[in-house]
Amino acid sequence: MRFDIITIFPDFFTGIFSHGVLKRALVNGLIRIDLHDLRNHTHDRHRTVDDRPFGGGEGMVLKPEPLVESVESLGVTPKAERNSQRESVILLSAQGAKFTQAIARDLTKLDHIVLICGRYEGVDERVNELVCDRELSIGDYVLSGGELGAAVIVDATMRLLPGVLGNEASSAYESFGHGDDHFPDVDGPPRSTHGSGGLLDYPHYTRPAEFRGLVVPQVLAGGDHAAIRKWRRERALEKTLQNRPDLLDNADLSREDRAFLAKLMSEKP
Ligand code: SAH
Repeated sequence: MRFDIITIFPDFFTGIFSHGVLKRALVNGLIRIDLHDLRNHTHDRHRTVDDRPFGGGEGMVLKPEPLVESVESLGVTPKAERNSQRESVILLSAQGAKFTQAIARDLTKLDHIVLICGRYEGVDERVNELVCDRELSIGDYVLSGGELGAAVIVDATMRLLPGVLGNEASSAYESFGHGDDHFPDVDGPPRSTHGSGGLLDYPHYTRPAEFRGLVVPQVLAGGDHAAIRKWRRERALEKTLQNRPDLLDNADLSREDRAFLAKLMSEKP
């Protein structure tokens, strides 16, 4: 999969893309990331990318000409003819739809993603109209630029591509993942994680078995697969109820899950 990132700060990404899974995906050629300096598409002596807002108000706005030219230089199909199944131009924006694991999964179906990083007060709206397929926000807060957002989207998306994670299954089994019913081998030994079905992941433990007086839950040290699965499921339900109760509305819940949640809620002070 190919990512193109348009930014006024290409150097911003130097460290971000040189570690761990992402670096390995680049080295192995599973993904390609090209950084494009917006200023290369300016035509004045000062390489101007911004200007004052029409209508007055604070700050500066990224001008439309360099951004549209930059997108056009990348060989993407013109918006009107674009088959958004395989390529997409995305504007990072605090006003965008919220980026989620489901959107990351959707993006893995594409071959080519162009990410436009805004700065200052934002981007001239005509850029959105002329060349962008969607606006994405990485959360309900305002950043000083789209670069961190672009890095988040690249990271969350590329790790879902086949072959990127060492353990093929692990991305499906973590927080926000599918349920176990997507995986036929639920009767075997429990995996390091198992289908979350839209819940948050359960807590993980490794050695030492005792650390500063805290002992790893007994059940995990025994070989009872069914008991381990039940324990993990209940902890995932507990954590989701505690930290993200909103996720329970759309989670894949069994009758036992619901009974367990009802019990938890009745015990709540
Ligand atoms: N005036 C805008 C904020 C501009 S911040 C507003 O009030 O909504 C400058 C740039 O940072 C934006 O153009 C966008 O590219 C990026 N940005 C800010 N917050 C973001 C977020 N939550 N998600 C993605 N990009 C964001």
